Amino acid sequence: MMTNIADAIIIGGGVQGASLAFHLAQRGVRATVLEKTHVAAGATGRSSGLVRMHYDTEVDSRLAWVSFQYFRDWKEMVGGECGFTRTGFLMIVSVEQEDALKANVHMHQQLGIPALVVTGGDVKRLSPPFVTDDFNVAAYEPESGYAMPSDTANALMSAAQRSGARLVQDCVVTGVQTTGGRISGVQTSRGDYSTPVVVNAAGAWADGINRMVGLELPLTTWRHETMYVRRPGEASQQHPAVIDFPHELYFRPEGGLTLVGLEDGNPLGESPDNDTEHARPGFVERAVARLCLRAPVMDGGSLHSAHGGYDGITPDQHPVLGKAGPDGFYLDCGHSGTGFKTAPAVGLCLAELILDGSAKTVDISPYAAQRFAEGRSIKGNYQNLWK
Ligand SMILES: Cc1cc2nc3c(=O)[nH]c(=O)nc-3n(C[C@H](O)[C@H](O)[C@H](O)COP(=O)(O)OP(=O)(O)OC[C@H]3O[C@@H](n4cnc5c(N)ncnc54)[C@H](O)[C@@H]3O)c2cc1C
Repeated sequence: MMTNIADAIIIGGGVQGASLAFHLAQRGVRATVLEKTHVAAGATGRSSGLVRMHYDTEVDSRLAWVSFQYFRDWKEMVGGECGFTRTGFLMIVSVEQEDALKANVHMHQQLGIPALVVTGGDVKRLSPPFVTDDFNVAAYEPESGYAMPSDTANALMSAAQRSGARLVQDCVVTGVQTTGGRISGVQTSRGDYSTPVVVNAAGAWADGINRMVGLELPLTTWRHETMYVRRPGEASQQHPAVIDFPHELYFRPEGGLTLVGLEDGNPLGESPDNDTEHARPGFVERAVARLCLRAPVMDGGSLHSAHGGYDGITPDQHPVLGKAGPDGFYLDCGHSGTGFKTAPAVGLCLAELILDGSAKTVDISPYAAQRFAEGRSIKGNYQNLWK
């Protein structure tokens, strides 16, 4: 088989690979995206699509804020549709986490993010069906909401292709070649490619790609389930998107449906090739019980559907971004269940890193792979991690 030549190879056609292809194409670099199934076949196609800026570290908030501006102005900045819907976003925390929340909202405001601290009474006025007597304050982002993850990835990929990027689907990367300590090509089920740059954007499969170049990082898989519930008539009104720390729950509307996920019960280390068409037994019952604690009116709702998905995850539950291993090898993986909303900015920053030697839009050096060996894990003030 003939060897193809590419300026850069991106392994994985999820939202991250598509975003990087888009930003490289904007800079005149025609990357080739190799995708073993189809665009958005992995975590992206299962993502809940929450778009909010509320994080407990500045670097995460910066990436989410830059990305938000793409979601909001998608047509002009990318083209096509990402399905962004503004619902407002509420972050509800326990009384013990109040000070942390206030400090985080202050940090967000300093970055220019539209965010404010509201009271339980404000939340009740915003969404009367919610129980609000178990917390004093919440963070509110009036501009936030959700987007459609598959549409987002496809729009980014189409825009990249219009500017010269290539997409090869049904193409499994089986090996990464190096010559003299430098990336020189990849082997795939559909022929070999010669290239000086390979980016690992393989989501839950990223550890296997790293091992192709002898790179061992603490990267494993995270399974997460979600369900859609049809809201009963008395709760038919739209509600904001919500993260509810006291109940280890998040939910957001989508027309007459509400999508629900849980912060706990997300197993690590499973094969990402396991069934994701169905949620595991017991998930729906647990999720309904939690949702009804915050919105008892949902007791009259009906189940629409439930499924699972896999993402890559690191010990500090933050992504690994940047150079690692042989020269020309880059990481865009380990997104730890939050890599949808940040994808537009991550792609932009990685394109800057690859082409200019450093990222200028947001300093992404805290996400470097060396942090694990050097004991510099990324920590916020909530210390609330997926379980
Ligand atoms: C159920 C669920 C809900 C989520 N909700 C949210 C949310 O609300 N907000 C948010 O910000 N984040 C959310 N996330 C996380 C977010 O979806 C992911 O972080 C993000 O989609 C990761 O994108 P990706 O491109 O890195 O990975 P993926 O979308 O998994 O893409 C990786 C791609 O690599 C391909 N691939 C793998 N191995 C190979 C190979 N050898 N050769 C070729 N191709 C290969 C796969 O087929 C796959 O398409 C959620 C995740 C899940 C699972």
